[in-house]
Amino acid sequence: METVQQKFDVLSLLEDKIKRIQTGDGAIYLVGPIRLPVNLYGETVEFKWYSWMKSDKEMDDFTQVVAHLSSANLAELQQSSVLVYGDFEYEEDALIRMHSICHTGDIFGSKRCDCGFQLKQSMKMIAEHGTGALFYLANHEGRGIGLFSKAMAYILQENGLDTVEANESLGFADDTRNYDDAIQVLKALRSKPVTLITNNPKKLKALKESGLPVTGRTPLWGDVSEFNEKYLNTKVKKSGHMA
Ligand SMILES: [Zn+2]
Repeated sequence: METVQQKFDVLSLLEDKIKRIQTGDGAIYLVGPIRLPVNLYGETVEFKWYSWMKSDKEMDDFTQVVAHLSSANLAELQQSSVLVYGDFEYEEDALIRMHSICHTGDIFGSKRCDCGFQLKQSMKMIAEHGTGALFYLANHEGRGIGLFSKAMAYILQENGLDTVEANESLGFADDTRNYDDAIQVLKALRSKPVTLITNNPKKLKALKESGLPVTGRTPLWGDVSEFNEKYLNTKVKKSGHMA
């Protein structure tokens, strides 16, 4: 009997959709675009979706990547992805958002932070602008401390510490997030200028230092409530966010 592999030439189906991005210390494999219709505030908006992962020595080309998938245990190591809207490669000005994963805010709709609101709002801003990309950074939970540590940090916050104090008392630097891989992916998708949706000057700096043409930034505030007031104030007072 014919196997699925014989019936469909799996490698040739994937070949055109997998891109190898050479980096200083290895390579990133980017897969996509994939059509992704999204429910955005009750309307269906169509994005193009890509996911990426870093290769290791065993996965030197894309055929090896495919061969290793079933044993790579990828579900234990989250991958990042990007939602692209419009003619991202060629349009003159694109809006970019680098969104750090927030399990509690994005998935559960927690009001302890403003992440869920920022995620949806930046997707809306990008769609309304006509072109742009939302990078969803899976290794950025709790500003890079991870979900389990974030749970502990929340307990400390319930006892009076602010976000920065809580993270530091658990042995973390305030903000350990790194944008290098996302910037590499962005460069592979677009070389024209971008405007960054952010209140965070560190993100703007990382993007500018990468050599990518950056037109400027556009702020994103909103969804202030009694539950996240202190969290938002700490962002401005201690983490250098621009109000
Ligand atoms: Zn959050």
